[in-house]
Amino acid sequence: MTATILDGRSLAKTLREELRADVQTFIADTGLAPALAVVQVAGDAASDRYVRSIQKACGDVGITFIHRLLPADTSQSTLDAAVRELSADPAISGILLQLPLPVGLVSTGAIAQLDPHKDVDGVHPISAGLLAQGLPGLLPNTPAGGMELLRRHRIALVGKRAVVVGRSNIVGKPMALLLLQEHATVTIAHSRTPDLTSVIREADIVVAAVGRAGLITGAMLRPGAVVVDFGINVLEDGTMVGDVDFASAAEVAGAITPVPGGTGPVTGVMLLRNVLQAARQLGE
Ligand code: NDP
Repeated sequence: MTATILDGRSLAKTLREELRADVQTFIADTGLAPALAVVQVAGDAASDRYVRSIQKACGDVGITFIHRLLPADTSQSTLDAAVRELSADPAISGILLQLPLPVGLVSTGAIAQLDPHKDVDGVHPISAGLLAQGLPGLLPNTPAGGMELLRRHRIALVGKRAVVVGRSNIVGKPMALLLLQEHATVTIAHSRTPDLTSVIREADIVVAAVGRAGLITGAMLRPGAVVVDFGINVLEDGTMVGDVDFASAAEVAGAITPVPGGTGPVTGVMLLRNVLQAARQLGE
């Protein structure tokens, strides 16, 4: 293997330590603790696990955690009202609407009730608009974490050719905009892109945000390319893999995020960082 491993676990540890100190300073300065409210509709075991992990992470860095757990048969109007109430509550700095919602409920209605200043998941159209215009705002956690991995490993971006595979509102599109902000020349590829191989072969930086195990192989990469793999795919035997075939890619790439242990651990810390950022802005 020749590639440098972009280790998300060790970066997440460093970021948590930094954040813990920043939260303590904020509390000392203001007398207030940043507070995250998670709105969850009951019924999804994976969500339960994720929410518990957020609760633990909040406790670890000194952020107050509030769990607004709604019953599985919650109506859209009750869900929307819960988000609206938390948006109006001055004790709450940030709100996360836990997805997926049960069939019959839509996130757009609830997100419309979300105060963009508390949008710590970066899902509100106002947050997306601020990002598109290069204005300060709360960034979606996953691409923000990917950028932090690149920054902390001092990966040069200015003038580099970047290809982002995937164009979702929470990963691919914002990642492309963040790379553009750092002066990369960015191409966004998706399911209708013909000849993905020749598009990827041009790239100095390859970002995978698809959800297809092994879609990108070492044979598709330009030697020395930097690979950021957001993909999370669970194989039949329970193994978690990314969108990039790690074994072949690591032989060609200059640097690569592993899965697990790459982008995933950093995503969670970026959520908590957004809570502190939101708390600071609410206090201004
Ligand atoms: P979506 O399903 O919303 O988007 C997938 C994107 O991939 C779409 O734009 C789709 O194109 C594109 N696509 C699908 N098939 C192909 C193909 N064969 N070739 C090229 N492009 C293709 O997924 P998300 O953006 O929500 O998530 C992407 C991955 O990231 C998932 O594996 C998810 O689990 C993971 N994830 C990881 C996180 C982390 O912290 N590391 C956090 C959040 C998600 P089109 O638009 O044309 O349909």
